[in-house]
Amino acid sequence: MQKLELKYEGKAKRVWHTEQSGAVIIEYLDAATAFNAKKRGTIPDKGMVNNRVSAHLYPLLEEAGIPTHFRELLSDTEQLVHDVEIIPVEVIVRLRAAGSFSERLDVAEGTELAVPVVEYCYKSDELGDPLVSDSTPQALGWASEAELAVIRRLALQAAEFLAGFFRERDIDLIDMKFEFGRLPDGRVVLADEISPDTTRLWDARTAEKLDKDRFRRDLGGVGEAYRHILEKVLS
Ligand code: 5GP
Repeated sequence: MQKLELKYEGKAKRVWHTEQSGAVIIEYLDAATAFNAKKRGTIPDKGMVNNRVSAHLYPLLEEAGIPTHFRELLSDTEQLVHDVEIIPVEVIVRLRAAGSFSERLDVAEGTELAVPVVEYCYKSDELGDPLVSDSTPQALGWASEAELAVIRRLALQAAEFLAGFFRERDIDLIDMKFEFGRLPDGRVVLADEISPDTTRLWDARTAEKLDKDRFRRDLGGVGEAYRHILEKVLS
């Protein structure tokens, strides 16, 4: 499958049209940004890790009954996916407190949550992905009520599956960000990536952070943590 013209260039990936309509190639890059691109850097092998972690997890999610955009792994840094219209809502599922949730509510990171917390953010770089209520996507026409219900159900189902997957590998899944897209026939599927960029993953024994927080918080050993996650995911 050949890359044709560039469809979209993001902060950490490029999306390419292919000769097949309805199929695009995602190319994962080593470029890393945080805090709304105020912090920039490069994480060696990040593109390879994120591509391969996502490509490993998506078929397992499909088997668990969660429809996704994924089609096939093409190379270390490229995968073929169904072209979807991305719904501009970031769906965050939190299993334990961390990050912006901990700051906003003054709850210690790692605190157990009695039920998973689902949050919605408007996907907008200019606005810094602001938190919105669960009725805002419908109010502003980003997604219908029925689509929102599907999104919430699939996000919770995916979170439960992934938490179990990582638990078996001695890793605690703390929280994660999902994006969803619409196929041409209107079906909503899980899209974008699932990787150490979009999840918080802690070593279950030592609570060591094994995700993008190492980059965000200048903790060092970023590339090693990413490669460790790939090894665990493939084990
Ligand atoms: P928080 O809101 O605590 O910063 O993030 C919650 C979870 O969602 C974390 O796992 C974080 O990595 C992920 N997340 C939230 N927003 C973004 C985003 O804009 N980009 C990426 N890559 N991950 C995000």
